[in-house]
Parts: sequence; structure tokens; C-alpha cells
Amino acid sequence: MPSERASFADRRARAAAKVREQDFGALLLSPGADLQYLAGYQLFTSERLTCLVLDRDGKATLVCPAFEAPRAAVAAPDVERMTWGETDDPYAIVASLVPASGGIAVADQMWAAFFLRFEEALPRREFHAASVITRGLRMRKDAAEVEALRAVSESADRAYARIVERPFAGRREREIGADLAEMLRAEGHDEVGFTIVGSGPNGASPHHEAGDRRIAEGDTVVLDFGGAMRGYRSDITRTVYVGKTAGREELRVHDVVRRAQEAGYAAARKDASAESVDAAARRVIDDAGYGEFFIHRTGHGIGLDGHEHPYLVHGNRERLEPGMAFSIEPGVYLPGRFGVRIEDIAVIDADGSARPLNKANHAFASVA
Ligand code: ZN
Ligand code: ZN
Ligand code: ZN
Repeated sequence: MPSERASFADRRARAAAKVREQDFGALLLSPGADLQYLAGYQLFTSERLTCLVLDRDGKATLVCPAFEAPRAAVAAPDVERMTWGETDDPYAIVASLVPASGGIAVADQMWAAFFLRFEEALPRREFHAASVITRGLRMRKDAAEVEALRAVSESADRAYARIVERPFAGRREREIGADLAEMLRAEGHDEVGFTIVGSGPNGASPHHEAGDRRIAEGDTVVLDFGGAMRGYRSDITRTVYVGKTAGREELRVHDVVRRAQEAGYAAARKDASAESVDAAARRVIDDAGYGEFFIHRTGHGIGLDGHEHPYLVHGNRERLEPGMAFSIEPGVYLPGRFGVRIEDIAVIDADGSARPLNKANHAFASVA
């Protein structure tokens, strides 16, 4: 797609401008979201070094194992390649591409095994985290990225609509988790990232993975799951109850969390600070008397990484802008009893308001 390639070249030009602004010499990216963002090349990290070198003049070179060059050529045809054979030293090749002066930014999630070799190959240079360069770019999604997030979010919505049709009572959390993973794939995900199924007291632990607990009638169950489609990630949470009627406190807590999320939506608009969204959601939960049980921030940015900037957390004064995408996910966790969380991905639209990318029903759904 020519237009897509043009946007990668444009991103690299903007990243190079930031490299110059910071007085850096080059940006070194091992496999990960930044590499995907700047070159469209997605691959898993292995011990064989693959590294995109973007120098201060905007020249991009992908240093990669020779046998992977055909794959890289398809994924990033517009990026020059320098390949290395099994007995070559790829670190020396990278070092030869790095300008003689200025700091060097390395991927935040680069393996230490690579970084230590770069320190040797580029002695007496100052290293920095690549997010200094890429964070501001990646945080502001372009139209194609928002569209990718919408598509993956709606795919997750469809998986949710299907899981509530299945019986829960008598089955283990793990089985529901496996069903969810299968549904995410069936609905278009090409990668399943996580399936949290927190039933009864397990729901009070926000990141409880699906375990062996057998779900019973009367349980409240937190379902939080997501994965990726063409690199862009989904992340949705709904809380359901098993049986005909939910308990009184469960109903009350679900209503509080739902109102907290709505308050988060109302506060999330262009020019509002990230922390003000957290404060708005938290106020509803505080006012209802559950403040001490809302034990995490209200949300996180999302894109090529499942958690990225901006973070909706107290202390983050960053202003929201059109194109920023993030979760709004208040929760209440009552230890030993149950938990409730509702999470959508939202994006700040051109008109300045927060538009939900997830459209799955927010109601406290009853499952069998
Ligand atoms: Zn989480
Ligand atoms: Zn989640
Ligand atoms: Zn999340």
C-alpha cells in the first residue's frame, strides 16, 4: 500500500527531527512497537540481532540476519537493509551506521543482552530510552491507527457478546478463558494477549489470571481480555453475574462503577488533563464510599502496545488531544468477596470528545 508506506516514511522523518532536537546521533530499535511504528516490521525478538538504525539525518537502515532479509524486504520494502551472516558481528555493523557524536536512544524494551553489546561497540556514548523520541509521536494516532483500534475493539466486543451466551456455572475459569481466546480468534484477532476470568473472590484481584476455580451460581465474574489485530491491541472488561439475580451489594457496586466510567467519559475531552479523568471517575467511587477499594489508575494509552502513554493517573498533567486512545477502566475490589470493573477503549475525536471504540453492552449481564 503506497499510502501506508508513505506514512511510515513520514513517521521516520518526524522521529529524526526529534533525534536532532535532542542532539542525539541515532535511534536504535530492536523488535517491538517502535520498530513496527516506524517501519511496519513486526517480529519476535530472538538472540539474533535485528535493529533499525535511524540516524539524525533521517537515514534508516535495517540491520538483520541474512536469512531474514526476504521477510524484512516484504514488510519494509522502503528501508535499506544491511544483512549479517551467522559468523559476522552485527553490533559492529550497527556501530558503523551511528554518527560519531551525540547520544544514542535505544528501544525501551530492548533486551539487556543487546544493550550490553551496544555499550561495548559504542564506548563512551550516552544512552537514552527511545520513548523520549517516540512517545509523543505514538501517543497521537493517525486516522488509520484509530481505524485499526476501532476494528480490533469491535472484534473484542463480538467475543464478549458470544461468551455471555455460554453457560458459566459449574465450569472452571480456565475453560471460560479458553473459550474467550477461541472467540477472539474467530472474530478476527490474530493474537490473543490475555484472558482474565476472576470469579467470586478472585475478581477482587484485578489481574487474576483464569485459574482452576469452579464458577458457581451467585458469583460475580470479571472478564478482561484482549489481543491484537494487525499489530493494534484490544482491551475490554465487563463484569457479569451467574444466575437469575445478583446480590444487593453486587448490584450497587456495579452501578457505582458504571457511573464512575460515565464520569470518566464526560471528563475525557480535548485539553483536559489525563489526571482529571482519573479524578472524575474516582470521585464517583469515593462518594459512594468505596474509594479505598479502587486500587489502580483509571486508564492507560493503547495502540501497538497494550499499555502505553498517556496514563490516566493522578499526577499526570499531560493534556488530552485528538487521536489519543486510552482505556477508561474504573473498578471496585472487595477482598475475599468479589470485584467489578468496566473497561472500554476510547479515543479523543476531532470534535474534542471521547468516543468509545468498544460498544459492548455495559449492563450487569446475567449468565447461566
Ligand atoms: Zn489491567
Ligand atoms: Zn483490561
Ligand atoms: Zn486495560
